[in-house]
Amino acid sequence: MQKFIIASNNENKIREFQTMLKPLGVKVVSYKDVIKGQFEVEETGKTFAENSKLKAEAICEKTGLPTFADDSGFCIKELASFPGIRSARFAEEVGGYENAFEDIKNRLNGKCSEAKFVCNIAFARKGEKTVQFEGVCYGFTIFPPRGENGFGYDSIFVPNSYGKTFAEMTDDEKNSISHRGAAVSKFMDFVTNLLKDAEKKAAAKPLKTKASKIEAKVEDAPLAVEAKKEENIVVDENTFSIDVDKKFDAPEVPFSNKSNEEK
Ligand code: IMP
Repeated sequence: MQKFIIASNNENKIREFQTMLKPLGVKVVSYKDVIKGQFEVEETGKTFAENSKLKAEAICEKTGLPTFADDSGFCIKELASFPGIRSARFAEEVGGYENAFEDIKNRLNGKCSEAKFVCNIAFARKGEKTVQFEGVCYGFTIFPPRGENGFGYDSIFVPNSYGKTFAEMTDDEKNSISHRGAAVSKFMDFVTNLLKDAEKKAAAKPLKTKASKIEAKVEDAPLAVEAKKEENIVVDENTFSIDVDKKFDAPEVPFSNKSNEEK
C-alpha cells in the first residue's frame, strides 16, 4: 500500500482524506506520526496555493515521503477578498465565528456581496515538481446566518443556484459542490493515474530471470557463511558470490557415469 503524508493538524481533515484515498490503495498518515518533536510550518504565502505548497514541500523535505497539504478559506468580493487566507486567524482574533459574522456584516453595511470558498491542495514528492489542484465554489453572503451543519463560514454562504446555505446542507450535498470537493476530486484523479502508471511500469519490467532469483537467494549469503563456518569450512566472507548468469547460460553437460579409467 502506498503511503502519503498529510501536512495537517486537523483530525477531521485527516480522517476525511484517509477515507477518500483508501479505496485507491493509499494509506494517509499524519506528519505528526512520522516527524518526532515539534514541527510547525509558517504560512507566510500570499495565496492559498503558496501556503499549501509551503506546507507540503517543508514536510516532504523533512520526511522524504510523498506529502500533500491543503489550504482553504472564504473570500468576500466587496471586501477585496477578506478574510481570504486569514479566514481561520480572523475568526480567532475576534473571539469566534459569531463575532466574525457580526464584524463582516458591519464591514458590508448590511449589503449582500458575491463571495467564494477556495481550496488548494499541493502534492510534493522528492525529485518531482510539486503539483497543485484548486477548487472554487462561487456564491454570495447572507445575513442573518442560517443552518446548523458544517463549520466556519458555512452559515453565511449560499452557493449560486442553491436556495440554502452550506450549513443547511448535508455533508454529501455540500461535498458534491464545494471548493474542497472539487480540489479533492482533481487530486484523486491525479493519484489514480499516478498509481496506474506505476502499475504499468512494474508490469513492463522484464520477467525475473532464473539468474535474478538466485541473486535474491545470495542475499542470504551471510547465513550460508555461518553454516560453512559451523562445518569448519574456511570461506572468504568478502568474496561470497556466485556468478549466477554464467552458470545458467552454460549449456547443460550431460552427467556421465563412466569411470575415470574408461575415459
Ligand atoms: P484550513 O485550510 O483548514 O486552514 O481552513 C481555513 C479556514 O477557512 C477555516 O478555519 C474556516 O474558517 C475557513 N473555511 C475553509 N473551508 C471552509 C468550509 O468549507 N466551510 C466554512 N469555512 C471554511
